[in-house]
Amino acid sequence: MRVAVLGAGVVGVTLAYELARDGHEVTVVERHAEPAGETSFANAGLVAPGHAYTWSSPKAPRILWRSLFEDGQALRFKPSLDPRLWSWSLKFLRNCTAERARTNTKRKVRLCMYSQGELNRIAAETGVDYHGLKGGLLYLYRTQETFERGAANTAILSEEGLELRAIDRDEAARIDPALAPVKDKFAGAVYCPSDESGDACVFTRNLARHCAERLGVVFRFDTAVEGFATEGDRVTGVRTDRGVIAADQYVNCLGVFAPGMAKGMGVSLPVYPIKGYSVTLPIDGRNNPPAIGGVDEDNLTAYARFGDRMRITATAEFAGYDTSHSPSDFDHMLGVARDIFPDGANYEQPSYWACLRPMTPEGTPIFGRGRYRNMTFNVGHGHMGWTMAAGCARVVADLLAGRKPAIDLTGMMLPG
Ligand SMILES: Cc1cc2nc3c(=O)[nH]c(=O)nc-3n(C[C@H](O)[C@H](O)[C@H](O)COP(=O)(O)OP(=O)(O)OC[C@H]3O[C@@H](n4cnc5c(N)ncnc54)[C@H](O)[C@@H]3O)c2cc1C
Repeated sequence: MRVAVLGAGVVGVTLAYELARDGHEVTVVERHAEPAGETSFANAGLVAPGHAYTWSSPKAPRILWRSLFEDGQALRFKPSLDPRLWSWSLKFLRNCTAERARTNTKRKVRLCMYSQGELNRIAAETGVDYHGLKGGLLYLYRTQETFERGAANTAILSEEGLELRAIDRDEAARIDPALAPVKDKFAGAVYCPSDESGDACVFTRNLARHCAERLGVVFRFDTAVEGFATEGDRVTGVRTDRGVIAADQYVNCLGVFAPGMAKGMGVSLPVYPIKGYSVTLPIDGRNNPPAIGGVDEDNLTAYARFGDRMRITATAEFAGYDTSHSPSDFDHMLGVARDIFPDGANYEQPSYWACLRPMTPEGTPIFGRGRYRNMTFNVGHGHMGWTMAAGCARVVADLLAGRKPAIDLTGMMLPG
């Protein structure tokens, strides 16, 4: 079967791999000159079932409300006239009950755990390098109160079979010796031994190369999708700025740009862009970089090490499709990083970046078809698309093959 995958982020490229592995003839259409040019470019890199909590929780409305009046660095919610923002926010608020948060988190952690297994399978099958670091992730808490709350929250993930341990600061420093000089700043940590990290961009680009060179996947770069040609309930071609590309099946993996392309096809996707910032620093001979990744939970700042680089990420901002940034946007997260790893990297050489998370109100992605029976969606991976991409790729490949996916997709399928 000929399949056109639209978008060469981590989601589109892993799907291309799975489809080619199943024996399909795959073409990937991407408007940038290379893969992972948007959200998959410089994310935090955490493969983190241990952080699979949904953002829509009973605490979220109060946090959003406060952010209207405070100039916080972690969450920046500024109302605009965008009707999509309002309809998305209403759906988000509806998911903030304890019951919905519990259901969504359980679905999400199951998908994350399944995906991590699929990611490791793909890495083993292909040998693609991505600066992967196993050995767990540390979720650090600065106060006894937040530590106790964080430790109590883990129950919902542990119920699904994920090992998470509340540990004291000495054990955290044994697990990551880079924390030893600063361990007294923390009350304790939650350690997820099976979590890991790796560079999603390096993975995506290396996997794309493998797909092209070994599996015959065709990449049409510098090619922007503009719309679709249809006949009855079928798509007959993707209209691009370089002509029409015809296939038997089409999969929309366009990240935050998916809703615009879906709208023209009568599908309303509740995927909204939520901006995040990251800064990457060379380790450059500094002698105490982190051994494994983690999150400073009180500052909502994540860190990871990729070979000879360290990356820090933070902030959830409602800014529409604006990806601009200025050095002051990074002051807080760099302050946090210097506080934990004063000799972890060369702070004089920051590479700044900002991009948009394709968030759904539930925090779980969206699969399935809309009005056209050969157009499938694989979108809305939010703040965990690197963690979830490989499992979602397998799910979509199974759906296209008419096979039952290995995990329950309740709540993630489009009606139709
Ligand atoms: C600051 C930050 C930190 C994050 N940290 C983590 C983390 O630690 N762990 C984790 O699991 N996830 C993390 N994420 C989330 C993760 O990065 C995303 O969920 C993931 O990258 C989404 O991948 P995607 O392929 O769906 O989207 P993208 O990577 O954006 O890919 C979509 C592609 O479609 C292309 N495209 C769009 N429109 C068109 C068009 N009209 N024609 C042709 N091509 C088009 C784009 O150019 C792009 O290449 C983070 C995100 C951010 C912003």
